[in-house]
Amino acid sequence: MDTQTLITELQSFGLRLAEAPEGAPEAGAAPPPEPASGEASGEGDGRRAAWTSRRGGAGPTQHVAATLRGATVMIPIHTDQAAASPFVARLGRDGAGTVERDGQELAPIALVKTPRFYALSTKDGIPYPKIALLHGADVLASTVLQTCIRYTEREKACTFCAIGQSLAAGRTIAKKTPEQLGEVTEAAARLDGVRHVTLTTGTPRSADRGAAHLADCARGIKARVDLPVQAQCEPPDDFAWFEGCARPASTAWACTSRRSRTRCARPRCRARPR
Ligand code: SF4
Repeated sequence: MDTQTLITELQSFGLRLAEAPEGAPEAGAAPPPEPASGEASGEGDGRRAAWTSRRGGAGPTQHVAATLRGATVMIPIHTDQAAASPFVARLGRDGAGTVERDGQELAPIALVKTPRFYALSTKDGIPYPKIALLHGADVLASTVLQTCIRYTEREKACTFCAIGQSLAAGRTIAKKTPEQLGEVTEAAARLDGVRHVTLTTGTPRSADRGAAHLADCARGIKARVDLPVQAQCEPPDDFAWFEGCARPASTAWACTSRRSRTRCARPRCRARPR
């Protein structure tokens, strides 16, 4: 089976974990325990024997990050469909093994380990995973505002969105500061080799639609470590907010909805006024 077909089928059917190593995210398992404060500890490469998977809330939920044939992908493991998937991963204690279907080995696979920075807390006592999470193998991601005017008006909310659930469950905080994001990103780059950052936001009731705080957060990151940042927000009515935020160097902006009332001035943008 070629790599693209394998990835597509794994993401469609999900994956069962057989002979899961200690700490692996078995189907139906509880979320990982609250990280402790202080430096990470453990054997070998220093990372704890646990894996990056998410249950519920915003982001790639019910998935585990895994690398196969050189690509890191998110694969569903906590869904009902995954529990009945024809694909099975047979893993050793190090989280590496093979993917099989009908008893036939298809490819080697390795789960992405829990990053070292998850064990730390900010100077003001917030566990780092409440500020930002590892996506895939080397992307740090954060929702800088975990509240949204669309989400609270349920008849207008985006039906796929679960931004409020992580906050309600206490797995994150409502607003991340530029200082917190700078501190966490520096540690994630130094300890875990994070190479770029994605920032997103709920929509505030302000004309900038969150662009100003995103720009502040990008500046907070770049004050500590020089990584590329991608920032996503609902398009403000006036696109001058993107430039007026004194766009931090190597920060790319992306529109996250089709709510724009104005035609985008960018030559290749297909957004149209609603
Ligand atoms: S605008 Fe964004 S954060 Fe708000 S409900 Fe829609 S997807 Fe969720």
